Amino acid sequence: MKAWEANIRKVVPYVPGEQPKDTNIIKLNTNENPYPPSKYVEDAVKATDIEHLRLYPDPTMDHLVSAIAANCGIRKENVFVGVGSDDVIAMCFLTFFNSDKPIFFPDITYSFYDVWADMLKIPYETKALDDNFHMVLEDYQQENGGIIFPNPNAPTGLLEDLSLVEEIVAQNPASIVIVDEAYVDFGGKSALSLIDKYDNLLVVQTFSKSRSMAGMRIGFAMGNSELIQYLNDVKYSFNSYTLNDTAIRFGAAAVKDKEYFQETVEKIVNTREWTKKELQTLGFSFPDSKANFIFATHKTIPAEELFQALRQAKIFVRYFKKPRIDNYLRITIGTQQEMEQFIRFLREYIRQKI
Ligand SMILES: *Cc1c(COP(=O)(O)O)cnc(C)c1O
Repeated sequence: MKAWEANIRKVVPYVPGEQPKDTNIIKLNTNENPYPPSKYVEDAVKATDIEHLRLYPDPTMDHLVSAIAANCGIRKENVFVGVGSDDVIAMCFLTFFNSDKPIFFPDITYSFYDVWADMLKIPYETKALDDNFHMVLEDYQQENGGIIFPNPNAPTGLLEDLSLVEEIVAQNPASIVIVDEAYVDFGGKSALSLIDKYDNLLVVQTFSKSRSMAGMRIGFAMGNSELIQYLNDVKYSFNSYTLNDTAIRFGAAAVKDKEYFQETVEKIVNTREWTKKELQTLGFSFPDSKANFIFATHKTIPAEELFQALRQAKIFVRYFKKPRIDNYLRITIGTQQEMEQFIRFLREYIRQKI
């Protein structure tokens, strides 16, 4: 070991899903939206004056913050914006999770939470989901330093009832509770309706999934103005200019196209429901997803084998070699046509096996 190594912050990084260079594949591995962003974004691209890039962006990101607030029917003071919800949630960990008591999150969940906790030296305890992958209310009734969970959950796709979310928030007035709603637009009920009632609640959403803008990196948190102020204080102490000027303008344009948003979300939901039926007839089972992916296991063929076979056929899905979920595949919902190809491949593969 080198002398300076004792002072290094050593982390085991999060491993994002693969972004293959080959574009001739069916990409169902990172929960991206298969449809392009709104035409409003295209118009904003055309209206871009590169002369503007000379200047620093607006540190308050007012254009985007205002558009999000108007869309959600809340005030600007209730909105915090960051470089994707990953950045927003990392800022939340830094701002709100400073107790000696452990923070709580489910054992099967977004695999970034334990990485941030480890990196920021925040103690944590995972709470086992029940056999049907649901959260257990009692687990969140013990003393803690904060709580975070996605709803719908990832990678299961399961939605918890808003009444359970409210119970957790109400029973933990001494903790900040973060509800990560990356997938809420695909069939969930947002906890946004509760932010006026509970001052310890933060709701986080993203442009990466339902708004087809993963590449732009825009996420946001909503909560009472005091929490948002604390978040902004940390942001300004870290990096005043998180979003670039283009992201601010393209994001604001995207939010305004409600019609296109509803249309693409509806298409994905319809394709998801079609895919569920097909998977069932092929011998798969899965939690009833309300997200833009399905977490499926086959009655006879091991998930890892299927993962490899699909990959050979240039169909990329996500496989997590982790306890309790190592026989499942997380399959992002693509276009109807992509899902038909995917199902056709599976039908043929399974037929040959039997
Ligand atoms: C995709 C995802 C995020 C992060 O999305 P960003 O692209 O950083 O906005 C956060 N939480 C969950 C559960 C996700 O699946």
